[in-house]
Amino acid sequence: MPEGHSVHRIARQFAQHFVGRRVAVSSPQGRFAAGAAQLDGHTVVAAQAVGKQMFLEFDHGLWLRIHLGIYGAWDFAGDVTADPTVLAAGGRMGQTNQKGTVVGAHEDSLASIGAPRRTRLRMAERDSLEQPIESFPPEPIGQVRVRLLTDDTVADLRGPTACEVLEPQQVDAAIAKLGPDPLLDDSADAEERFVATVARKPTSIALLLMDQSVVAGIGNVYRAELLFRARLNPHTPGRDVPTDVVRELWRDWARLLRIGVETGQMMTMDGLEGEAYRAALANRADRHWVYHRAGEPCRVCGTHIVLEVAAARKLYWCPRCQA
Ligand SMILES: [Zn+2]
Repeated sequence: MPEGHSVHRIARQFAQHFVGRRVAVSSPQGRFAAGAAQLDGHTVVAAQAVGKQMFLEFDHGLWLRIHLGIYGAWDFAGDVTADPTVLAAGGRMGQTNQKGTVVGAHEDSLASIGAPRRTRLRMAERDSLEQPIESFPPEPIGQVRVRLLTDDTVADLRGPTACEVLEPQQVDAAIAKLGPDPLLDDSADAEERFVATVARKPTSIALLLMDQSVVAGIGNVYRAELLFRARLNPHTPGRDVPTDVVRELWRDWARLLRIGVETGQMMTMDGLEGEAYRAALANRADRHWVYHRAGEPCRVCGTHIVLEVAAARKLYWCPRCQA
């Protein structure tokens, strides 16, 4: 499932190529025909990610709320932007200087390497370059719930958990249900809100980190990695986790989320350089402490990483480092 960093990157793609543009909105699949009709022909005025959800505001006051869920994906084609990390992960550009990628580095547009109108970029759990399009706009592929089309960019959404038109007060209500997202608000108040919530919960910290009403944007990968980085036993009840550790979890999430948005990868190991850093960007097996490493030796102590299922999601941890 896409975690917070992916959704923020998608919102940036919309901010760059759709905000300020009039958009033809349709539902090639038909399931969102009525909603599409409410938005068709209007101008997008804002694109905002909150945790794992994205909100697009239109000039007549209505919003489009999208939650990709497990299977959802956006396909962008035409004038789209992919930073070098995407190109490298897709194997299209080889040795890109990935460390040069910074937030807002939109000058790394594909336009600079030619044929932007033929580009197709998929943004979901991970970003990937797809087969170039032959003509613009391309025919919809598969079950496209909603298509947003400007003169030179198209975005097709498939397989979302949620795709709905909302009034402003409904948007407020949807966002109010979510815990703080450090990329939107890294204030002391946001940190305090997280700390206070965790402090009164008997629920395990592993479940709290995945609870979007406690903190927004964390999924299975970041959860496991944050707990390892804190050397925290996943089963510790929230209220028993020392306050300074809870604060550090929040700050570490803010740190990892920023890195995720910058690199497009859930880069959760520190201190990697050169070839090790490139390998980690290209390969999940080289960038995590514990996630997806069941039975492999812990990178710190050598103990076999444990896999257990908690609330139907796989939880990876080191029973020695996180005793
Ligand atoms: Zn260990």
